[in-house]
Amino acid sequence: MSNRTELEKLGEFGLIDRITNGFENTQPSTVKGIGDDAAVIDSGDKYTLISTDMLVEGIHFNLMYVPLKHLGYKAVMVNLSDIYAMNGDATQITVSIAISNRFSLEAVEELYKGIRTACELYKVDLIGGDTTSSSSGLVISITAIGEVNKDEIVYRTGASENDLLVVSGNLGAAYMGLQVLEREKEVYKDNPEMQPQLEGFDYILERQLKPEARKDIIHFLKDLGVKPTSMIDISDGLASEVLHLAKASGLGATLYEEKIPVDQETFDTARTFNLVPSTCALNGGEDYELLFSIKQTDFDKIKDNSHFSIIGHFNDKNSSVNIVDRGGVSQEITAQGWNHFKED
Ligand code: ADP
Ligand code: MG
Repeated sequence: MSNRTELEKLGEFGLIDRITNGFENTQPSTVKGIGDDAAVIDSGDKYTLISTDMLVEGIHFNLMYVPLKHLGYKAVMVNLSDIYAMNGDATQITVSIAISNRFSLEAVEELYKGIRTACELYKVDLIGGDTTSSSSGLVISITAIGEVNKDEIVYRTGASENDLLVVSGNLGAAYMGLQVLEREKEVYKDNPEMQPQLEGFDYILERQLKPEARKDIIHFLKDLGVKPTSMIDISDGLASEVLHLAKASGLGATLYEEKIPVDQETFDTARTFNLVPSTCALNGGEDYELLFSIKQTDFDKIKDNSHFSIIGHFNDKNSSVNIVDRGGVSQEITAQGWNHFKED
C-alpha cells in the first residue's frame, strides 16, 4: 500500500518545508535561499534580491469584481513588497501569464496597463517573462529583482529579545474591502438588476483592489537613521507574520491589541459585518504593510511618527507569541496564514 498524505494536513508552510527539505545551497554567491521574503545573492558590491509570487484566478482574485488593470497593478505590488521587506529597492520584474481564449487582446492589454503604471510609479523595468495558454482561468506569476547595500539588508532572523515590534500604516482594510466586494457579488448573483452598493467604502476598496507596496517606508526609515533588526511584509495577516519573525529569530513576542492600527472606515465596516476590527487586522491578509523590529534605543526616532505604530516587543526564546487584549488578558497566537488547501 502506498501512502497518500492530503495537502490540507500540511498547509502551505508545511508543504514548502517538506518539499524544499534536503536541498543544499552549493554556490558561494547564494547568501540566503529559501525562508525569507526574497532570496539574497552576492553580486559583488551589493546584494541582489529575488522574489516570486503567483496569483491564480479563483484563488487570489475574482474577475467578477476585480478590474484587470487593477489586477496587473496589484500583481506587481505583491512582488515589490517582498523586495522592500528586505530593506532593498526593486529594480526589475519579469511577468509570466497563462491565459485561456476567453480573454481578448483588449483584456490582456488592460492587465498590462496596470503593470505599466506600477513599473512607472515604482521605477522598475519589465525585462521579460513568458506567455502560455491555460485551460481554465488566468494565472500571473511575477518575479521581482532588487538590490540592497550589503550593510543595509534586513532578514527575518535578526531580532533580539526586547526589540520593539513596529508596523507601518494600518491593517485589516484590504480584508474588509474584500468582504464588501464579496457581499455585493452575492447580491448581484441573486439579482443582476441590483447595482452594487460601494459608496462609502472608497478607502477599503482601494486597499483591496489597488494596494501600494511600502517603498516609501524604506526611505523614511533611512532618513530617520533607523535600521530594522528584522522585517517581513504583511501578506497573510499580522498574526501569521509575527509568528514568522518570532520563529525565524528564535524568540517569543507580545502584541497589544489596543496598539494595532485600524483605520476608521475599516473599523466601522467591520462592525456592520459583525466582525471584531482587531481580528480583521490580525487575520485578514493583503495589507502589504511592513512589520519590523527596532532596537529600544531607536524608540525616540519613530515614536511620534504617524507612519508607524509600536505594537509590541520580542521576548526570550522560551516564551510563546501572545496578544494582550484590551482587558489585559493574554492569549497565544497560533494562526498559520491562509490554508489554501483546506476545503471550506
Ligand atoms: P512570501 O509570503 O513572502 O511570498 P512564501 O510564504 O510564499 O513567502 O514562501 C516562503 C519561502 O519559501 C520563500 O523563501 C519562498 O521562496 C519559498 N518557496 C515557496 N514555495 C516554494 C516552492 N514551491 N519551491 C521552493 N521554494 C519555495
Ligand atoms: Mg513576504
